Amino acid sequence: MNILVINAGSSSLKYQLLNPETQQVLAKGLCERIGIDGKFTYKPEGKQAIKEADVAMPTHSEAIKAVLDALVDKDNGVIGSMAEIDAVGHRVVHGGEKFAKSVLITDEVMAAIEECNPLAPLHNPANIIGIKACQSLMPSTPMVAVFDTAFHQTMPPVAYTYALPYEYYENDKVRRYGFHGTSHKYVAQRAAAMLGKPIEQLKLISCHLGNGSSVTAVNCGKSVDTSMGFTPLAGLPMGTRCGDIDAGIMEYLMNKYGMNIKEMLNVMNKKSGVLGVSGVSSDFRDLEAAGKEGNARAALAVEVFEYSVKKLIGSYAAAMGGVDAVIFTAGVGENGGHNRANITAGLEFMGIKIDAEKNKIRGEEIDISAEGATVRTLVIPTNEELMIAIDTAALAK
Ligand code: AMP
Repeated sequence: MNILVINAGSSSLKYQLLNPETQQVLAKGLCERIGIDGKFTYKPEGKQAIKEADVAMPTHSEAIKAVLDALVDKDNGVIGSMAEIDAVGHRVVHGGEKFAKSVLITDEVMAAIEECNPLAPLHNPANIIGIKACQSLMPSTPMVAVFDTAFHQTMPPVAYTYALPYEYYENDKVRRYGFHGTSHKYVAQRAAAMLGKPIEQLKLISCHLGNGSSVTAVNCGKSVDTSMGFTPLAGLPMGTRCGDIDAGIMEYLMNKYGMNIKEMLNVMNKKSGVLGVSGVSSDFRDLEAAGKEGNARAALAVEVFEYSVKKLIGSYAAAMGGVDAVIFTAGVGENGGHNRANITAGLEFMGIKIDAEKNKIRGEEIDISAEGATVRTLVIPTNEELMIAIDTAALAK
């Protein structure tokens, strides 16, 4: 079965054509600067990537048309015709409380996704545009929506309730939702396979550390708490997002600098996190390099991030009454060996201890625990596309 996975943003669109049974990726790529000057990247399996600039892409429809044309191209295509695409899986950021699982897209489902738009105004409308563009080009191909929030719908009220007047939850659905659910679910399943135990018997803490970061407590295969909240701004400090701060700071800074709420949120979303603290970059590689050259703020930014992850590991172990394994995934989690070492340093009292040599290995699933550790520490490359393709294939059948 060939599944086309689409991750549509406001001006970009990532895609992958893969077979979830064999896990073979036939082709993947990226459309960027949609509505501006259209950049197109296409990488067929076993061949060089093709990059084109100034591709006419006024809307997502032309971008998806470019993807489909490339997939069936007689020289560099990977399928004979569009009929060989059995279904399309769409990443959708917010499913609110309506979607606890992936769903086959119908008119009713589209209406329900649109109802979630106010919860993710930056993301959901773009996801919807991607779905509609695909529907118009492939009207008879089944489409599936896979939600970033769905995995976290198992959180109990004690974890998702904010201590605000309760009517804001009842009337306005203000609660913790959590994101990165597809990634946390995937690595939790892989962790169970690596440990050779049923997931129903495991307490896991999944650290998705990338440009956006979140930590999730997974008890018996279910998300029971997560660090992102009503929006992806909450929890850890990230590349450019501040994570949790005292809400009172907003009033203080808005008054002092005459900022309106939009300007304040722009600071919190785009100018904060490790970029804000360091003044150097949102990229952890740049920060590591600057830190080595003696830039104290770059070093502090990374320390603030690592300290926040360490505290979440402790609090989620407390929330679950123990932990069997801590998982590191995404850009920093998979590659930042020194970050993993700093995060886990001092957690020996919990049974967490990593092996310095194993911690150097990159790009593969590996148990980096040291001898004598009673809690496993695992590095697991995430694969959200595969997870989306698996759900899509199951529903399309
Ligand atoms: P993601 O959002 O998952 O793509 O992760 C992006 C982040 O991963 C960026 O901040 C990168 O700097 C970081 N990253 C990638 N490679 C490394 C590395 N070797 N060491 C530390 N961070 C890395």
